[in-house]
Amino acid sequence: MAPRGAATHTEEDGMGRRRELRARWQELRERTRPVHPETERALAERWAALPDHVRTPAQSLGRHAVGCEGTHGVFPKCNLTCTPCYHSADANKVRIDGGHTLGEVTRQMAYLRERRGPYAHAQLIGGEVSLLTPDDHAAALQAMRDAGRSPMSMTHGDFDPEYLRALVTGPDGALRFDRVSFAAHVDSLMRGRRGAVRPRSEAELNPFRERFVQMFRDLRAETGLRYYLAHNMTVTPANVGQVAETVREVIGMGYSMMSFQPAAHVGDERRWKESYTAVDADAVWTELEKGMGQPIAHQGVDFGDPRCNRLAFGFLLERRWHPFVDPEVPAETAARDAFFAHYGGIAFSNTPPALLLVKVLRAARHHPGDLRIALRWARSLLRRAGGVRRLARGARAGRLGLMTFEVHSFMDAADVGPAWELMQQGVEAGDPRIRATQERLAACTYSMAHPETGQLVPACAQHSVLDPVENAGLRKLLPLTPV
Ligand code: SF4
Repeated sequence: MAPRGAATHTEEDGMGRRRELRARWQELRERTRPVHPETERALAERWAALPDHVRTPAQSLGRHAVGCEGTHGVFPKCNLTCTPCYHSADANKVRIDGGHTLGEVTRQMAYLRERRGPYAHAQLIGGEVSLLTPDDHAAALQAMRDAGRSPMSMTHGDFDPEYLRALVTGPDGALRFDRVSFAAHVDSLMRGRRGAVRPRSEAELNPFRERFVQMFRDLRAETGLRYYLAHNMTVTPANVGQVAETVREVIGMGYSMMSFQPAAHVGDERRWKESYTAVDADAVWTELEKGMGQPIAHQGVDFGDPRCNRLAFGFLLERRWHPFVDPEVPAETAARDAFFAHYGGIAFSNTPPALLLVKVLRAARHHPGDLRIALRWARSLLRRAGGVRRLARGARAGRLGLMTFEVHSFMDAADVGPAWELMQQGVEAGDPRIRATQERLAACTYSMAHPETGQLVPACAQHSVLDPVENAGLRKLLPLTPV
């Protein structure tokens, strides 16, 4: 018979082990929980705040996405000049200062983490991001990642391969990021690009668009760096007639997204060269479809207010584009509905594949009918794309890749100013035009953090109302010539 003390020890050991096992099991359950509870809360808040007219079956905001985020006041200066430019007249009088950038990015991201939960896409945007030193740029990206953000650097793309190398590798030459995302803004409305100071056409810029992608390809071959590249283009009456040709040229270059911004009257008035009202989302979409030589269905998934965003998610197979959800096919819209209802909010990108699979399986466990819905969707999509063999052949030949098309229509400052002011007072505008602006602001998909006021501000309001004041202050805080 064991002495009493020894028995007590054994019991205590057993209880301790059970406690430890329980704690581990709990931790595993939390880690594999399909949607983080803070994301659930943020999604519910967004959905509840959406105006009725955007709560459509296709709406992804508030059901799967909490919305995109961007930085402000972190490096307002740019070394190119665009017509138009969304930044206020003082932006170029603010010194680039890595310490300020890092401090502000960290502060803004912490607030977004608190309000929007542990996962979102966020843009590191100024100004021109490559005016930061590579180390400061890398530190800002790391701060965003530390806050659970998936960062995208917004650039004019006029930097050298050495800059990119110094950004993504540490002093020992090893990669400091496994994956980076960049959006390159390239269009003929920009002045000052090295080698194309005053481009006369979009076609003149194609070698620069190609060179940008090539920098990443070369680095991938050398280091294994993974990347996601978007191509951004501002569209005005001056270049709308060149959109189709640009699409034809850019589509095979290696970008995964083509985004167009019809110009708005916002920012530095000295850079408004003409009336921009003639070019809207419809005009750009028509050109996009002309360039692709096919209809581009965007009605399958909404992202916020359709007057702000038109998005088409899909893939390219041998230069022909296929949507993930064909809005005309009930089997595909049924899959979308089941996805939003049962899997919305799961962080599909940046979750390790094995963990993602467990999350999906945990969600699927409660919805056994989803398997049939998923199979019907896959069958329909494969039929549209020409079958599995064709898909496999395309993949082997490197002719299969993701491609998202987007038109994002910012609003004029003259409308946003009064709309935002009334919203701050909780007043619905009587003027239909200003009320429509308020509706769009309420469904905004692109927010900027103001922890000092406890607000998440739509980028339209940031650029139209807050930037001028903010940049005037920054001009004193960070003068070009330190005093
Ligand atoms: S309100 Fe402005 S920033 Fe927000 S989604 Fe609409 S156009 Fe974009």
